[in-house]
Amino acid sequence: MDNEHCDLLIIGGGIHGVGVAQAAAAAGYRALVLEQGELASGTSSRSSKLIHGGLRYLEYGQFSLVRECLRERALLLKNAPRLVRLRPFFIPIYADSTRSRWLVWAGLTLYSLLGGAGRDTRFRRLPRREWAALDGLKTAGLRAVFQYQDAQTDDAALTRAVMASAQTLGARIKTQATFVAASRLENGQEECWRIRYRQHEQEHTCTATVMVNAAGPWVNEVLARIAPAASTVDVELVQGTHLVLDGRLDRGIYYLQSPRDRRPVFVIPWQLTGEPEGSAILLGTTETRYTGNPAEVHPLPAEQEYLLETYRHYFSSSPRVRDTFAGLRVLPVGKGQAASQYAARQRETVLHTDCPDSPRLLTIYGGKLTAYRATAEKVMAMMQNSLPDRVRIADTRTLTLGALRY
Ligand SMILES: Cc1cc2nc3c(=O)[nH]c(=O)nc-3n(C[C@H](O)[C@H](O)[C@H](O)COP(=O)(O)OP(=O)(O)OC[C@H]3O[C@@H](n4cnc5c(N)ncnc54)[C@H](O)[C@@H]3O)c2cc1C
Repeated sequence: MDNEHCDLLIIGGGIHGVGVAQAAAAAGYRALVLEQGELASGTSSRSSKLIHGGLRYLEYGQFSLVRECLRERALLLKNAPRLVRLRPFFIPIYADSTRSRWLVWAGLTLYSLLGGAGRDTRFRRLPRREWAALDGLKTAGLRAVFQYQDAQTDDAALTRAVMASAQTLGARIKTQATFVAASRLENGQEECWRIRYRQHEQEHTCTATVMVNAAGPWVNEVLARIAPAASTVDVELVQGTHLVLDGRLDRGIYYLQSPRDRRPVFVIPWQLTGEPEGSAILLGTTETRYTGNPAEVHPLPAEQEYLLETYRHYFSSSPRVRDTFAGLRVLPVGKGQAASQYAARQRETVLHTDCPDSPRLLTIYGGKLTAYRATAEKVMAMMQNSLPDRVRIADTRTLTLGALRY
């Protein structure tokens, strides 16, 4: 139906777009999501699928991000037990590891404290007699192994579950619907957005009080189609590739260091669609600067070699590669940051508005799958002044996810 009106028009059906739809609908607003492909067809199906605080961000002093992500992890474990599960993580320390036993112990202690020091944040050092049971992890030069806990999900299923939750609260989504352009329109006393989008070869229009740009790697492309022209944040796109390997891991997730550049690489139990849980291994990720069209991102041979080299360094098997995929991180460029410092780059989400006091347009740059709900609630708080009064119907902190099959 053309010319329908909504309170919030959200561009992008990734985890952030559906998270905002859920938070908006819970607050009583009429939200509509436009997604150019299918739900989670962008980065939100190509992540490492971890619901975690991000242990390594402690090294860069990003304590508030880690605390927030651990809080969100706890909520997801409670509200989405079928989709988000706690897993044992293992950190092996070898003679040539750059982080000492004491540093890892200190990091895990801080991680546990930031996570509330409850049962889910316990960690331990594995006794030597347990090393042989670690899925074939090489023990030559091994000095210590730490075990802690974080969580794993299916990112695309989580995105679909959040959208299903938003829909039960009244939000709507149009897939295969590409946002084309938006401009300001006088609507009686009020100004609003007039939006044009294409769905199934046909152009449609609608109006909205505010717009949220959650287009992931396409954010600045979307902003370029909005009039009057909105300011942008400079970003770099950084590609991360994963390989799906033959084989299985019975104990949990391994947190390794690439022997080449010391970057973290995860080895994770996984499965291909339709296969039993844990029947394959997910190996990732890389950090490769990307300047092309986001729709065309694909794994590179050099990335595959880098990941397999890391795997073979720690495990004696040479599994077959069954599948590969790549996603794009959106990293806002800060002053004085070199392109090579991706790991140290602030991972906090940037929420950029056209006007701080009463924003009509808000753009989400970067962010974590784990913190989607907290991000969505911040978006709603920032848009509050620009939206009409509505009666809240739910609280996203208590909404359950995954009760249906997705
Ligand atoms: C390699 C990698 C590993 C990661 N691992 C983790 C992890 O383990 N844990 C974690 O917490 N986070 C992780 N992240 C971060 C997390 O995956 C992302 O922050 C999150 O998925 C981004 O979601 P999004 O909704 O912003 O973007 P996206 O998922 O990319 O969604 C944007 C959507 O907008 C749509 N769109 C674009 N333009 C238009 C248009 N014109 N009209 C309509 N729709 C449009 C796209 O089709 C897309 O579906 C990882 C990221 C990467 C790249």
